[in-house]
Amino acid sequence: LVCSMRAHYRSFSFSASLRNVMPAWVIDRYGKNEVLRFTKNAALPIIQYPNEVTVKVHAAGLNPIDISMRGGYGAATMAMKRDPLNMKQSGSEFPLILGRDVSGEIMECGLDVNYFKPGDQVWAAIPPWKQGSLAEFVVLSANEVSHKPKSLRHVEAASIPYVAATAWSAIVNTGGLNKDNSSKKRVLVLGGSGGVGTLAIQMVKAWGVHVTVTCSQNAEQLVRDLGADDVVDYTAGPVENKLQTLQKFDLILDNIGGESEKWALDLLKPWNGAKYVTLVTPFLHNTDLLGLADGMMQSGVTIGCKVLKHLRKGVHYRWGFFAPSGPTLDEISEMVDAGKVRPVVEEVFSFAQVPQGFQKVEQGHARGKTVVSII
Ligand code: NDP
Repeated sequence: LVCSMRAHYRSFSFSASLRNVMPAWVIDRYGKNEVLRFTKNAALPIIQYPNEVTVKVHAAGLNPIDISMRGGYGAATMAMKRDPLNMKQSGSEFPLILGRDVSGEIMECGLDVNYFKPGDQVWAAIPPWKQGSLAEFVVLSANEVSHKPKSLRHVEAASIPYVAATAWSAIVNTGGLNKDNSSKKRVLVLGGSGGVGTLAIQMVKAWGVHVTVTCSQNAEQLVRDLGADDVVDYTAGPVENKLQTLQKFDLILDNIGGESEKWALDLLKPWNGAKYVTLVTPFLHNTDLLGLADGMMQSGVTIGCKVLKHLRKGVHYRWGFFAPSGPTLDEISEMVDAGKVRPVVEEVFSFAQVPQGFQKVEQGHARGKTVVSII
């Protein structure tokens, strides 16, 4: 077996291949911050398919999903993705490595990988069912990886992939905007000061969109610097009252969810193809609670009812999801090197300080991103 795995990648010498363990932060069960455990003996990930690459992690970004996954969020769906035939015992995902953003260097390439070579500086957003980046190495499919922007250091680059891939998936794939059809359109970003918001504002601004943002008063300057045209302080009273006085929107990206669904769709231009895309969905919660089949059915019924209800008023209701994609990151990389998108790094923690990094993200009130410098 080992021989057949080895046959899938070009071997070259690096010190890690001489040992089969690496340093990493792992969890062995779900829970609060105390489940995070540092080990020097995590299994070294190896290339198993010819389209995979090994990346040496220089920096890892943290996201709210790391906090949720630490507590077991999405475990049912992730178990299905990791083990579609359900052959393994429950708990086989442990020791689990969190961390969805990586910026680093290609160490090894599977035999089918032509786009990368060892030594390439890359970045990637890691699908939640794969081992994460809070470790010395991570193995990814080459189509999830992209050359990192030349203008960024690794700690800056690691702040971008997961939120960029999410914003792109929601705005482009689900929302239908792109660089060629966005000029003068009006976009509302609910919750502009966190990871997804700070990236989304810059992305659509670069395409000539008029951007309205909701955030706390003390984040106004930040979002204006990123390109927001109108800013509404949600702490100053019901935000919908102020938003209703503005021109209607072509697209709403909702990073907040909850009550906002009740009024946000009234802010869209009716009968004009306008869309509301929310990132706060019950999809994984439903499968955690009801199991895969019933959970997915429940989600299908919920989204179906909401889509129909709003369609009758001439507006489109959608759920947005993170989608890993190297080609998307190639586009973002170009935007970064062209000066159109910049990283917003709020705080950098060392590898030894991963639990403090989790605490910071868990406290909320993000102003951009929290990053861990691994080397
Ligand atoms: P962050 O924690 O980085 O940012 C959230 C931001 O919203 C903070 O800056 C917070 O600051 C602000 N905020 C909180 N309440 C409000 C409010 N009522 N109105 C306006 N702003 C508010 O999260 P992310 O940007 O990374 O993610 C946003 C959401 O999207 C999260 O719920 C996340 O779980 C979800 N998500 C979903 C994905 C999917 O695949 N469906 C993928 C990625 C993210 P303050 O409290 O100081 O105002």
